[in-house]
Amino acid sequence: MLTKDQAICIRAVDYSETSQVVTFFTKATGKISAIAKGSKRPKSAFGGPIEILSHGRIVFSDPNREKLATLTEFEPAGGTPGLAPHGTWGLLRSDLFTLNCCLFAAELLNLLTDEHDPHPDLFDSFLQFLHDAQDAADKSETLALLILFQLALLKEVGFQPILSRCANCRTRYEVRETRDEVYFSSSANGLICRDCEPAFQDKFRISKNAGDCLANLKLLAESPQKTLLEIEKLLAHHFTELTGHRPKMAKSVLGS
Ligand SMILES: [Zn+2]
Repeated sequence: MLTKDQAICIRAVDYSETSQVVTFFTKATGKISAIAKGSKRPKSAFGGPIEILSHGRIVFSDPNREKLATLTEFEPAGGTPGLAPHGTWGLLRSDLFTLNCCLFAAELLNLLTDEHDPHPDLFDSFLQFLHDAQDAADKSETLALLILFQLALLKEVGFQPILSRCANCRTRYEVRETRDEVYFSSSANGLICRDCEPAFQDKFRISKNAGDCLANLKLLAESPQKTLLEIEKLLAHHFTELTGHRPKMAKSVLGS
């Protein structure tokens, strides 16, 4: 049986001289891995090798979920602003920082979702993130978009961090609090207050500005790049704790 779906490629590796194994995040089926036979041939049925982040409609057959699906069609999305002919994001190629942020988002999506576990809202958020990142005016805006996507991802997969209260004692986070540092704990899954902080060995210190932003995400848009990088550093640390590995793209985005 053939399945049709909207999809974004989140991983593509060479399988042989002529074929690839591609992982798609699809709208209705969730994540799937498929073999794209002959995709690297000059006259392939897919119009050439399938690139990571490319977006379009796919058709695949998946008779046995234990094995790789077989990709039978890939039709790049047409008429989308910023989208190059092969369903890839033309503008991303000219801006390495934005490209790295998008690749980081794709890597996290792959790490935190399971195959055949649909998340249609997350698909829409990811697609919107890719569009918005291309239109971002500067590095700060791209970082703010990445942070919001990462928080949306955590929420969708059941790990929404607690940011408006202490994750341990539930005291409300006061934006006007006078202390100049704030703590986040991955084991508590959120910000932790001054009273609870000594009990958490895994606490991660951030500035009050970064804490205020997390407690009130509307502040992200006007925050200086320094604060946004600090939040991104915290999130990269948190994803490392959650998955047990430091995501590969974290270094490319954070520079360390
Ligand atoms: Zn507390």
